[in-house]
Amino acid sequence: MRRLPSSRDDDWRDPNVSSVPPDIAGERARRASDFATRPRPSCRPTRSAHVGIAGAGFSGAVIARELAEAGHRVTVFDTRDHVAGNCYTARDPTSGVMVHVYGPHIFHTKWEHVWEYINRFGVMRRYNHRVKATVRDIVYSLPVNLHTINQFFGTAMGPAEAQAFIAAKVESRDEIVSFADQAVAFVGGDLYEAFLAGYTRKQWGTDPTELPASILRRLPLRFNYEDSYFDDPYQAIPQDGYTPIVEAILEHPGIEVRLSSTLARSDVDAFDHVVWTGSIDAFFDHEQGRLGYRTLTFEREVHDGDFQGCPVMNYCDRDVPFTRITEHKHFAPWESHERTVTYREYSGPAGPSDISYYPVRLVKEKAQLLQYVELARAARGVTFVGRLGTYRYLDMDVTIKEALDASAVLNTGLATGDKLHAFVVDPMA
Ligand SMILES: Cc1cc2nc3c(=O)[nH]c(=O)nc-3n(C[C@H](O)[C@H](O)[C@H](O)COP(=O)(O)OP(=O)(O)OC[C@H]3O[C@@H](n4cnc5c(N)ncnc54)[C@H](O)[C@@H]3O)c2cc1C
Repeated sequence: MRRLPSSRDDDWRDPNVSSVPPDIAGERARRASDFATRPRPSCRPTRSAHVGIAGAGFSGAVIARELAEAGHRVTVFDTRDHVAGNCYTARDPTSGVMVHVYGPHIFHTKWEHVWEYINRFGVMRRYNHRVKATVRDIVYSLPVNLHTINQFFGTAMGPAEAQAFIAAKVESRDEIVSFADQAVAFVGGDLYEAFLAGYTRKQWGTDPTELPASILRRLPLRFNYEDSYFDDPYQAIPQDGYTPIVEAILEHPGIEVRLSSTLARSDVDAFDHVVWTGSIDAFFDHEQGRLGYRTLTFEREVHDGDFQGCPVMNYCDRDVPFTRITEHKHFAPWESHERTVTYREYSGPAGPSDISYYPVRLVKEKAQLLQYVELARAARGVTFVGRLGTYRYLDMDVTIKEALDASAVLNTGLATGDKLHAFVVDPMA
């Protein structure tokens, strides 16, 4: 196979350039070189396909493992100098705290097989996520629950009374068009203005009256004191962070990992098949324009002791420029550290050299996406998977589930010689 060039897609620049704090970059380089140079036994199964995978996040790693276990040879490329994609974690060298480098990641799922899968590769520790919100210098509990309601309105209502109270505040509209209409229909104008209007505007860079109602399908509003952020039966954080879990998934004699190496469309012919977990528009050199993403910038600070007493504090007021502060040591309550690391998080439109975090998926982007989906369906030898390959926001459990489903389809196709399709999950759905 011809040698593939390194880091030539500047869409996927080293995140250190734009938003990864420098201390983490040093730790990351050390881990990356350890991992990349670790000797791996060679595997030459007979009658196996050689599959190239763009991306060593959960999507690429799970598919690599499933194909390798079925006897195929897999080469996994990642533009970055580390595995685990946006779930990458690394110890902060100043404080020793395990940092979620691309933003806070809490594993939660209702699917037993996904829970069993991740537990094969590392120790998952039970973790119950709780989020607070600051509104006009008062701290509330999220998602909006009976405590939030009573505190906000200065009342001491019970569940039934609060339900009737909110029902009277909810504004019915003839037509629900925008995010703002939908939110007011769920919680009423007061709670919407305090907890949603400013935050949403900062997160999406657009006034909620301009955003479609479809963004807000459901709003958790609890008439009891339950303040767990998620309600899935399995909620956890890996004891040693996500990076060793993804490394363990990739630790198989049939898998070769090439870090700081970018796969391109022109490399497809070097493989029997390619799985693309990078951006679908990057595969086609953005020929229909760049799909819109929101990017994040993190301002890192190190403090003594405990900074805010909780893992995530949202800042809902529109005149506060950041959206939230994450304090990473609270994601590992089983550890103790004298110092603490915080990330102040800002949201903005992603430029060509920024990291793509959240797909925008409004009307314009969906029309553009359709053009890429059509191009992908006409392409040969490549299957698009994962959050970037299908331009959707995916939680980690959905990512793993879809990667397992895609692997089953790919393994069957590789065994039978049937045509492998561009998508296992329709990105337009
Ligand atoms: C701020 C934030 C917070 C989140 N919090 C949670 C949470 O609490 N819980 C949860 O379940 N999920 C969370 N998620 C979602 C989670 O990050 C995703 O589910 C997961 O990262 C998807 O994995 P992936 O492999 O599809 O993509 P990624 O993790 O993005 O991996 C894709 C990889 O492909 C590489 N790549 C791209 N193109 C190429 C190429 N051409 N050649 C080589 N490599 C390439 C990239 O460098 C990247 O490393 C969060 C997401 C964000 C943005």
